[in-house]
Amino acid sequence: MLNRLLARMEELYPEMIELRRLLHAEPELSFEEVKTPTMIADYLERLGVEVKRGVGGRGVVGYIKGGKPGKTVALRADFDALPIMEETGLPFASKNPGVMHACGHDGHTATLLVVAKALMEIRAELPGTVVLIHQFAEELAPGGAIAMIEDGCLEGVDAIYGTHLWTPIPVGEIGYREGAIMAAADRFDVTILGRGGHGASPHETVDSIAVASAVVGQLQHIVSRNVDPLKSAVISVGSFQAGGAFNVIADQAELVGTVRTFDPDVQELLIKRIEEVIQGTCAAMGASYTYSYKKGYPAVINDAVETERFVSSAQAVHPAKDIVEIEPVMGGEDFAYYLQHVPGSFFFTGAGNEAKGLTYPHHHPKFDFDERAMVIAAKGLVSAALHFLQEAKAEQPVSGQDVLKKR
Ligand SMILES: [Zn+2]
Ligand SMILES: [Zn+2]
Repeated sequence: MLNRLLARMEELYPEMIELRRLLHAEPELSFEEVKTPTMIADYLERLGVEVKRGVGGRGVVGYIKGGKPGKTVALRADFDALPIMEETGLPFASKNPGVMHACGHDGHTATLLVVAKALMEIRAELPGTVVLIHQFAEELAPGGAIAMIEDGCLEGVDAIYGTHLWTPIPVGEIGYREGAIMAAADRFDVTILGRGGHGASPHETVDSIAVASAVVGQLQHIVSRNVDPLKSAVISVGSFQAGGAFNVIADQAELVGTVRTFDPDVQELLIKRIEEVIQGTCAAMGASYTYSYKKGYPAVINDAVETERFVSSAQAVHPAKDIVEIEPVMGGEDFAYYLQHVPGSFFFTGAGNEAKGLTYPHHHPKFDFDERAMVIAAKGLVSAALHFLQEAKAEQPVSGQDVLKKR
């Protein structure tokens, strides 16, 4: 059954390309997707897949119920685009000015649709159910995953897999990692409230720029002095705004920054320590402050058993040298939420190709990926899903009949 599916992925490559380019030409922003989910749902219905539309708002969920009993495995692909003016010059470039599929979600969607087509062809032999989760709004917090989970997309699901096409990795390779593979990506905003005045009379003011500078300096010590050296974290101040005139002491200064962590305990420590540093510095220098901390997506934590299962299924399909363990990526992904509910694994499918000039980073106006990566992603997803269903079937407890006999 697996060999037939893998062969179909090769045969259906032209259709993947066609679907991807159709999607690419008509990108839609997060929380504004209308045509894309309709196209997905219509395609799945034409295949005979049982479809739920409007899941969690704009999501689409498809159910492929196998002809044989078994467990349920979910595969997820996101379908939103970004507020970027495309500069690729591709013949299938965005027809929607200022909106672009610059992260590869068009490829994720095309891949999962073709996977659905191939699975429907072997449905009678399938031992269990495959749930297809087509998710809206991955790029913009709070994201679409939470709403889709609340609307029941994980009901009855025993395991989940997903992938991201990834240009930093060359096409042909697959990157996996057990445990944390992507970071929690948070934002903090600080306003230092001083007392403005004449630049010639600093003794009559509280200089918000001097205070904010001290805060920025002190923040650098948190990761090096408070975080366990065997754990990792990032605090970066990305914006510092204050003042407007050369001879005026600024009344207030605004700092905006990001925090990246993998461990929730480290995250809580940073939330607390950042405020203590601001509070202490302001108290010492006579200023006051406001501080707000917004948690983004949590870290993507891959389950050990499902990651091992994924790796062994991928090794059965690809040369072992192409399945590589990667370092965690400091970016965020709302796939994290699915993994908080069911075990699973998220992997990166290499999609870069230097020879073809496909090396632009994700979210760049010239971003494009090697379309061949879709076949590799598709093979990775079907082999993992099939592997899970077949192994789960073997692990299932003895049937009632057998229990009776034993008694
Ligand atoms: Zn993205
Ligand atoms: Zn993405």
